[in-house]
Order: sequence, then structure tokens, then C-alpha cells
Amino acid sequence: MSGWQGVINGILNLLYPSSPLCSLCAHPVRYVTQGMGGMEDTVPLCTVCKEQFAFILDNICQLCGRPWVANTVCGDCARRTEQHIHYSRSAVRYNEAMKGLLAQYKYRGDRKLAEVMVSLLLRAWRLHYAGMKVDCLTYIPLHEARLLERTFNQAQEMACLLAHEVGVPLHGLLEKKKATEKQSQRDRTGRLNALRNVFHFSPEEGIVLSNCPVIVLIDDVYTTTDSVSKTILRNTAVLRHLIA
Ligand SMILES: [Zn+2]
Ligand SMILES: [Zn+2]
Repeated sequence: MSGWQGVINGILNLLYPSSPLCSLCAHPVRYVTQGMGGMEDTVPLCTVCKEQFAFILDNICQLCGRPWVANTVCGDCARRTEQHIHYSRSAVRYNEAMKGLLAQYKYRGDRKLAEVMVSLLLRAWRLHYAGMKVDCLTYIPLHEARLLERTFNQAQEMACLLAHEVGVPLHGLLEKKKATEKQSQRDRTGRLNALRNVFHFSPEEGIVLSNCPVIVLIDDVYTTTDSVSKTILRNTAVLRHLIA
């Protein structure tokens, strides 16, 4: 941050002491509505920190939601012979800022960053899911051993907070039977191979999936979702994804 930005933020802090503070640098946050169709953007980051993230807006693949020519299907989706993803949307690109944020939250356990993660999801929800009938949210599970080591499942925490914000029920539907290495250390093919057959369909007791035809699967990164999609889709009708 430049010296001037620090001075300006200091003055704003004095003028508006009740302003929320940026979750990354603790400077005051001024919410803006730009690019949100008039809706308030509640990502708890100051302008300087927010600029580090590359928000994904309209120019996206109709299916997977990755940046692409608007209203068309990207090369990857067009080539796929089996289509498990019906509609997937991500909030931001996986750039250095997002990598850093995710590492601090997920691997170093900085739980206060859950607020930032869910605000990113909420932003994407408002842009892409508003008005859509969604019956329940679910999340990518962690293997038991990994959960013990990390103490929390970031996807579950994000899904839980989002469910509360949007008023949609959250159900655990999957179990991870096999521990896998850190996905961030593999390339795309490695990640997909490592995830083959590791997820099992294991809905919470009492969940009747015929009452939940439209499910949104919450995750932190895009690449892990295809094998999970297959597992859920064997058992349900429609699946959509929302990724931070
Ligand atoms: Zn900041
Ligand atoms: Zn696509």
C-alpha cells in the first residue's frame, strides 16, 4: 500500500470510526455497488486489497463459468464427452492473491478469513443464483485424518455460513474415504487422477433426496468438482456448483 493510501485510510478511520475494517489489512472499508447491478457489495476488504483479486463477471463459459466468450461454451466443456457439470460459477480467478488468501485460511487456519471467503461466495450467489430455485447446499468433505490435522473443513465452514446468509438448508451428502495429498501441489491431470473413486455418497441420516432435486455444491477451488459431481449425480437429478 502506498504511503498516501495509508494516510487517507487513517483519516477515514478517524472520520468514520464505525466503518468495518478490512479483513486483510485492518483499514476502513467503504462498500461500493459498482458492477453488482446496484446491489451492495459486502466483501469485507478495502479498495486496495480488493483490487488484488480478479473477480469473474459476465464473460464466462455457460457451463463451467470460467472466463470465456460470453454466452458460449468453452473448449474444455465442448470436448467433454460425459457432462457432469450443469452449471458452475466461481467468484474470482485463482491468482496469487487468492492463492495467498486460501493458504492463510485453509492451511494456516486463520479462521477469521472465513468471512472473506463467504463474502466472495455471496457475491457470486447474488450474480448467478439469485431467483434460482435451490433445494439444498452441500460441500466437499475432508478425509477424517485431514480433518483431525486441520481441525476444520473450509468447504463445510463456507457452505454453512452461506446457507445461513441465503436461507437454504445445508446437508452433508458425501464422505471422503481416502486421504489425498495437497491438491495444490499437483497439476490438473494429477488432481483429477488422485480424486478418482475417493468420494462416496453418504447422506446425513434422515435426508430424503427426492425432496432436494437441485443441489449446489460448495468448494474453494474448481478442479476437484468433476469426480464429486459424478458421485452425487448417480444419486440425484440436478447439481450446480459454487466456488470461491
Ligand atoms: Zn485492506
Ligand atoms: Zn466451460
